Order: sequence, then C-alpha cells, then structure tokens
Amino acid sequence: MSRDEFLGSIKGVFIITMAMVVSANVLITIMLVFTDFRDAALHYALATIFPLILTPTGTFPLLVMSHRLRLMKNELEGLLRLDALTEMPNRRAFFELAEKTFRRSSAVTLMMVDIDHFKRVNDTYGHDTGDRVLRSIGQSIQHIVAETADAGVKFAARIGGEEFAVLIEGLTAAAAEKLAGGLVAAIERSPVQGGGRSIKVTVSVGVAHRRTSDSPDMVLRAADNACYRAKRLGRNQWRDAEGLDVGPPATPVLTAA
Ligand code: GH3
Ligand code: MG
Ligand code: MG
Repeated sequence: MSRDEFLGSIKGVFIITMAMVVSANVLITIMLVFTDFRDAALHYALATIFPLILTPTGTFPLLVMSHRLRLMKNELEGLLRLDALTEMPNRRAFFELAEKTFRRSSAVTLMMVDIDHFKRVNDTYGHDTGDRVLRSIGQSIQHIVAETADAGVKFAARIGGEEFAVLIEGLTAAAAEKLAGGLVAAIERSPVQGGGRSIKVTVSVGVAHRRTSDSPDMVLRAADNACYRAKRLGRNQWRDAEGLDVGPPATPVLTAA
C-alpha cells in the first residue's frame, strides 16, 4: 500500500468514525428527550468511546481489502492484454491502441509480420523450441520497433500463432519502408540460439498506411494481404499494400547449425 493510499484509508476511517460518534450521541439525546433516562453523562461517554474503538477496528481492514481488490483488478486487466507465451501485448491490446491512435491521428502505418514456414520449425525441432523461437522473434520485433526514430506511438503485439502486428505513428512512407526492410533483414541476420542450436528464421512483412476513413481492421487486412503477396513472391521480404515497391530477395528459410 502506498503512502497516499494509506493516508486516504486513514481519512476514510476518521470520517466514518466521526459519523458513528455523532450518530450515537444524537441517539442518546433523542432517548433523553423522550424517555425517563438516567446517567446521561455515562451514556454520552459510552456513545463516544465505543464508536471510537470499534469503528476503526472494523473499517480499516475493509478499506485495506478494497485496496487489494483494486490492485488485483488492475493486474487482471493487464493480463487480459498480455500474450502469455511472449509476454508481449496481445490482439486485444493492439486493437484498443489502434482504435485510440486512429481517433487522433491520420498518419498511422500498420504492419503484419508472419514467420515463414514456422510449421517446419515445430516439425523439425519440437513445439518447445517453436515456442522459444516465437519469444525470441517477438523480442526482436519489439526491440526494432522501439528503436524507430521520428515516430509517435510505436507498438508491437502478437496477434496470432506466429503472427505479429506493428503499429507506428507519424512515419513517412519511406521511413516505414526502411523499418519493414530492417525487420526482414535483422531477423534473417540473427538466427535464434537455444538448446545448442542456431535456427535461422525469416519473416514476411506486409505494410499498409491508413487512408482517411480506414478503420484499424481495414488497414490490418490490407497489411495481411500485402504479407500474403510477400509470401507468394518467395518469403523473407516485405511488400506494400499499394504494390509499388520491392523488398529484399528471398534467401533459404530454415537451416540447422
Ligand atoms: P507460411 O510461411 O506460409 O506462413 O507457413 P507457416 O508454416 O508459418 O504457416 P502455417 O499457418 O502453415 O503454420 C503456422 C504454425 O504455427 C502452425 C502452428 O502449429 C504453429 N503455432 C501456432 N501457435 C503456436 C505456438 O504458440 N507455439 C508453437 N510452437 N507453434 C505455434
Ligand atoms: Mg500465419
Ligand atoms: Mg507463417
């Protein structure tokens, strides 16, 4: 519990206690007026002392419990937006941020990043190694996106099995192309290490820029289509939704060292 929250709880306890003391004393006064009531001083003293002792002991634990419940609620809301395997933001977090960014900005680029022939990684090395590859590629994407200069919001999420989405705000088309090319090249350059192996992984990337009235869903679908085009053209490359540009050439996709 933080100092502010502790002081807030103490304030709450004080207000409730004072309210109880006043109520009890008002009750005693009413009884004095309407009944043949003796030992008024003693009753006023009891009506003050009992609430002063009992109310804080009863209310403080309740306020602490309500504080813990609030913390648990915040933690659960965080977990709802987190991918358990990679500990990256998940699909829900991606679309929530995309909706928010689209409301205030028209210069938004979305990218779909899909690992090439990922099924082969699972088939060749097993599911656990596949999971390790997913975590590693997720970290690389997050790192590269976070390093992008001159952008507003920079965000990467795992939105499906071996699919990641990137949201980047305020980039020129040329800078977005540079980022997409950088993602493809960096992942190809850095095989995933683990279990005494070096696993070469590549990705295909689709890039789509927001046009004025597009929704996040529409732009991501355009990025997904561009990603499929990159797959059809040989994988290990990026493509733009407009179909105007050329990514790096395809190279062999999976080798074990
Ligand atoms: P392409 O280059 O066309 O994208 O081929 P691909 O093999 O990557 O795509 P495909 O859709 O055929 O297979 C995706 C695989 O991803 C199949 C599925 O078992 C695997 N996968 C999905 N989620 C997970 C996961 O959480 N862990 C692991 N290890 N594998 C996963
Ligand atoms: Mg896929
Ligand atoms: Mg794939």
